[in-house]
Amino acid sequence: MTNGERKGPPVQAVEGDPREDLLFYRFIIDSLPVAILTVDSQYRITSFNPWAEEVTGYSRDEALGHYCGDILQGGMCKLDCPLKRAIRRESSFVRLDTTIQNKQGETIPVRMNTAALIDDKGALVGAVEAFQDISFMKAVEREKDNLISMFAHDMKSSLTIIGGFVLRLMKRATDLDDEKRRKYLGIIQEETNKLDFLVDDFLEFARLQTGKLKLNFETTSLDRELMELMETYQAKARQSGIKLEFQDDKILPVVEADPNRLRRAFTNLLDNAFKYSTKGGTITLSTRETPKEIMITIRDNGQGIDPEDLPHIFEIFYRGKGANGKEGSGVGLAIVKAIVEGHGGRVLVESEPGKGAAFTITLPKSRG
Ligand code: ADP
Repeated sequence: MTNGERKGPPVQAVEGDPREDLLFYRFIIDSLPVAILTVDSQYRITSFNPWAEEVTGYSRDEALGHYCGDILQGGMCKLDCPLKRAIRRESSFVRLDTTIQNKQGETIPVRMNTAALIDDKGALVGAVEAFQDISFMKAVEREKDNLISMFAHDMKSSLTIIGGFVLRLMKRATDLDDEKRRKYLGIIQEETNKLDFLVDDFLEFARLQTGKLKLNFETTSLDRELMELMETYQAKARQSGIKLEFQDDKILPVVEADPNRLRRAFTNLLDNAFKYSTKGGTITLSTRETPKEIMITIRDNGQGIDPEDLPHIFEIFYRGKGANGKEGSGVGLAIVKAIVEGHGGRVLVESEPGKGAAFTITLPKSRG
């Protein structure tokens, strides 16, 4: 439990605090989105800011004058109290991850800093503790771990299938007929494609997580990008018996954009349109422009989206009811949103269950 521990100087109280300065400091401390409390040398709470009230559930009046351990019931209280250490001037704690218990008895993970409080004559006055509720960060970490395990699991199952069929091809190299050989190779190819998508999603997700989704802006012709995309997808449309139409009667102005990332966003939407459509369906890509924006809509007449799922589909890892039995990881639309918002645009969705879905990407004509 010594992570974040450091030998450091105690906090020096402000010299000869005139009244105005005190009010000013009180104002700052009360406004900070960080829980801050101070104790005297007997560990009785001497100040308790509004954020400390928010995190612990105790009001200032309930906390003042009480032994800090009774109010915080921290994971460290009985083991190695950080405030005691600070008061004994042994060390301060910086970024110590521990827990406290709130008034309702719930355990809250917090990130804590402590330091001794020394007056201008060098005498010990008490100690200060600042902490932040990090439940949200912990939840994100858990989600991240889950997703990483899910990716790893999906990758492993594709690899196991590939390995199994390669082994069959090797062992029975002489007695396999052509039909079986073709079938096995087809399965290997399918699983390799799956792996390819998974790795792409995983890398893109990792970039999103670290906030490193860097966009390389350049002068881009959306018409050309979309036209090329349509050509690429015609083969898939023929294979799946789905009609793919392009409605683009006006030439769009060129924009400053990252063409590679935008292609990724369009690809994710088109892949979904195919995935959630059935044979005989139609997918239409159309463009429109307003004085300030360009709008690109990908519409399908497939299964549509349940109204309960609609508000959540852009959340990372969210998969709607209609995704049951379909491949995917719930990352695609989160990537689309991040890319489009990185361009200063928006993604809108309309859908009626059973009638299809329409996703519209809106991009500003000029940046900034
Ligand atoms: P997934 O890998 O599940 O497709 P996405 O992030 O791409 O993940 O999409 C999130 C959810 O939105 C999907 O699970 C599905 O329920 C819904 N969805 C996305 N696109 C469509 C579409 N064109 N038609 C119907 N449902 C869709």
